[in-house]
Formats: sequence, C-alpha cells, structure tokens
Amino acid sequence: MKIIESNFYNEALRFIRYGCEMGWHERNAGNISLRLLKEEVDSVSEDFAFEREWVSISYPVPEMANEFIFTTATGSYFIDIQNCAETKFCICQISGDGGSYRVVWGGTKPTSELCGHLMSLGQLRKRSANRAVYHCHPANTVALTYVLPKDDKSFSEALWESETECAFVFSEGVGLVPFFVPGSLDLAIATSEKIQKYNAVIWSFHGVFASGETIGSAFGLAHAIEKAAEIKIKVLSTGLPVLNTISTEEQKKTANTYGYKLNEFKD
Ligand SMILES: [Zn+2]
Repeated sequence: MKIIESNFYNEALRFIRYGCEMGWHERNAGNISLRLLKEEVDSVSEDFAFEREWVSISYPVPEMANEFIFTTATGSYFIDIQNCAETKFCICQISGDGGSYRVVWGGTKPTSELCGHLMSLGQLRKRSANRAVYHCHPANTVALTYVLPKDDKSFSEALWESETECAFVFSEGVGLVPFFVPGSLDLAIATSEKIQKYNAVIWSFHGVFASGETIGSAFGLAHAIEKAAEIKIKVLSTGLPVLNTISTEEQKKTANTYGYKLNEFKD
C-alpha cells in the first residue's frame, strides 16, 4: 500500500484540517507524531527508501529504538496541507541505540520539535497505549497561561470546573510547563517529565501538547482542553462575580461514574 492511501496518513490530514478550522495553526504552527505499529510499517514499507543520512538526536531515546515515527515535516504550513501533502509529512526510522534517526519517506526534515515528540512518545509507551501526539496553538488555553498560577493543580482545577466532561476526559489533570524556547531541548525535557503523569501538557504562552492512542484521540483531548479554557476565559472576561461552579465533589462523582478517579493534588 502507498503511504498516501494509509489510514494513519489520511487521519492526520483530516485532523490537521479540523485544527486549521479551529484557528490553531497560524503560519507553520503545530506538529504531530505517531509511533507506527509493526503492521502499519509492514503495510507501507514498499514506499520506504533507506538512502538518507543518519542524523543524531540531541537527547538519545532508547525507548524508541528501531521504531518508525510518522510526523510532520519542519516548516509545514498546516493551512496549506493539501498542497503537495506528501512533502509535509515524513517517516523517520530510529536507530538501534535510539541516538539517531533517518528519514525513510517524505519531506526532507522532521518537525523542529522532534526530540520532544520522541522523548514523550518514549515515556507514554511505558505507561499507556498512547502513541500519538498532537501539538497546536489554541488561543484560549494560551491566554489562561497569563492569568492562572503556573502549576498543574491550578490549571487542572480551572479546566475541570469549566466543563462537566473534563473530569473524566482528563481525570489525571494536565501538566503545565513555564516558558521555554520553542523547539529547545529544555522544552522537550520538561514536557517528557510531565507526560509521565499527564496525557496533555500545556506550554506557557505557546500551546497544547496532547497525546492519545490515535491522532484523532490526541486531537480530541486538545479540543476538550481548549473548550474548557474558552469557557473559563469567557467567565473571567465578564468581570462578574462567579456565583456557581462545578464543585470538587461533583467533579469526583462525574469521574467515578465513568470509571475514572479524579487526581487529588496536594496543596
Ligand atoms: Zn508550537
């Protein structure tokens, strides 16, 4: 099968288009990654070419040794993704020691956030079936990073109380990292530490880095976070006293009803 006929490629195209409709992908903002399953690799490997140079990874990822990662190519404008789409993605093979990668299909160079994606995908596979990451720049979530205290507890509780389903969509909460230069190793390290506990990490003044079992579920988590953030921003923007909210007990009850347990942060 050709890669452009595969489910994972077409799912990526669809969800990138939805993200653009949301206004989350200005200029070349956003990137995605997916650790391919063996059957997915086998189904499309006729398209691979093993001629390009190995490139060292700034932080080795032994957890990802020998894996194939489907990701977006650096500089890709998602809003124009349909134009020569196959050049806006690439598949990287990770070396046997996890210290380098080479592009075996697609655009010449993967996203500048590749290291962060690889480190986080490596952590995720240790504790979950999540093998996809979706990164975007949703305005309301970013806006909240200017007004809420910079910690996981404050963000998680603010989102849980803003929309009823958040209590089970991300019962573990969300991680929050402070400012880091985009694409930096510091950002990659901080994110991979948070993703050991949370399926989504909010990057201060920047965006959301959400994971899932599929690109669609990672997108869905980012969407749920952004919707709750939008409601919170709207409530704050009224300037009116907040008379009602979803109590912690109600959040716990909601999570329990659907088989989850709300994370209890220590003060
Ligand atoms: Zn970004």
